[in-house]
Amino acid sequence: MGDCIFCKITAGESPSYKIWEDDFSLAFLDLFPLSRGHLLVVPKRHVDRLTDLPKEHHGAMLGAVAELCRRVERLAPDYNVGVNQGAIAGQIVFHLHFHIIPRYPDSPGFPKARVRLDPADAESLVKILSAQ
Ligand code: 5GP
Ligand code: ZN
Repeated sequence: MGDCIFCKITAGESPSYKIWEDDFSLAFLDLFPLSRGHLLVVPKRHVDRLTDLPKEHHGAMLGAVAELCRRVERLAPDYNVGVNQGAIAGQIVFHLHFHIIPRYPDSPGFPKARVRLDPADAESLVKILSAQ
């Protein structure tokens, strides 16, 4: 899909801190995390919305999200899972993605300014989250 950044990431044409993949989907760290370990789960095939995803892929999508939730629990037992659909809802990348955002007791809110992922911490998160 043309200039879609998540298509480029799934095709390996743009870098990402990859956590997990199967034939259907890919999970990688958010480049401007709302919390430590904030990650995104995307279908490899470009669709904008969950309502565009063919029904036969719903199980694979939810299975991938659940697998990544299981891994995020290594960082924090509490987390948000969310999808922004449409610009008014905050969507900025128009390729379906599920956010999984760990929540920590010492930082209950989300930061106002998004700071770019720290490469050293990203490497350590990849180690923790990519283990089976
Ligand atoms: P949305 O607001 O569309 O639901 O979320 C898009 C997310 O993608 C944001 O949290 C943003 O930080 C993240 N993001 C934007 N560009 C990139 C990128 O090139 N690489 C990665 N890993 N994340 C990105
Ligand atoms: Zn795409």
